[in-house]
Amino acid sequence: MRLEGRRQSSNVDDRRRSSAAGTAGGLGIAGVVIYFVIQLISGGGVDLSQLQEVLGSGATVRTEHEITQEEEQLAIFSSQILAGTEDVWTAYFSANNLGEYIPPKLVLYTGSTNSGCGRGSASMGPFYCSADKSVYIDLSFFSSMKSQIGADGDFAYAYVIAHEVGHHVQNLLGILGKAHQQMGSVGKKEANEISVRLELQADFYAGLWAHHDNQRFKSLENGDIEKALNCAAKIGDDYLQKKSQGYVVSESFTHGTAAQRARWLKKGIQTGDLSQGNTFNYRYSDL
Ligand SMILES: [Zn+2]
Repeated sequence: MRLEGRRQSSNVDDRRRSSAAGTAGGLGIAGVVIYFVIQLISGGGVDLSQLQEVLGSGATVRTEHEITQEEEQLAIFSSQILAGTEDVWTAYFSANNLGEYIPPKLVLYTGSTNSGCGRGSASMGPFYCSADKSVYIDLSFFSSMKSQIGADGDFAYAYVIAHEVGHHVQNLLGILGKAHQQMGSVGKKEANEISVRLELQADFYAGLWAHHDNQRFKSLENGDIEKALNCAAKIGDDYLQKKSQGYVVSESFTHGTAAQRARWLKKGIQTGDLSQGNTFNYRYSDL
């Protein structure tokens, strides 16, 4: 990606210097898989407090966290990507009469931190909390993406941030609240299907952002899209399940298959058109 001269967002809450010692941090992608399993047990609901219990972390000893140069660069990068999502979505909301775009906050932390949805920890991977309209990222996730699933490249990292911002857009548009309500009143299988629709739409929104960011700032370089598609494919439920347990249980999918994730991301990048991304209008088997 080309980001020279791009502004940084003022909506970053940097909590990295205060890190919790003795937490379950560092589980990386393996932790994300654990998260899926817990979602399975808990019936698809996102219950962070339960996750925290299972992982047995939550130590309160705080230590001073030393920030490396690489982490500092990733923090600046994340702030620039967030600023790009602010510019793109603000213009898009206004041009399409979607109301005012109120940007989310980006919380950078190390190890674990409090969120409006319970205690968040690095092992969960990046997440969006609708209660406090914030995206939470432990930047070590980006190095685990590289070392554990072989997905790297700045645009792959940008996709991860833009996906979480996509959940915020769903929240502003009322899609997230409605979906969570539905998920609470149906069985586990149906709830997981709703979750897949939400996740694929967030992938589409990430693509939509990239389309417009590139139009405004000429940010994409050769090979960028391939890197993000590779990343989307590697965080598909089927890929992660196969990797962690050797087989695939499709009813337990909460994020969609590798092919689905790459397809919806690509569709967003190609069309840049919100009306093309209604994953709730499709038959589940056609997603
Ligand atoms: Zn998501």
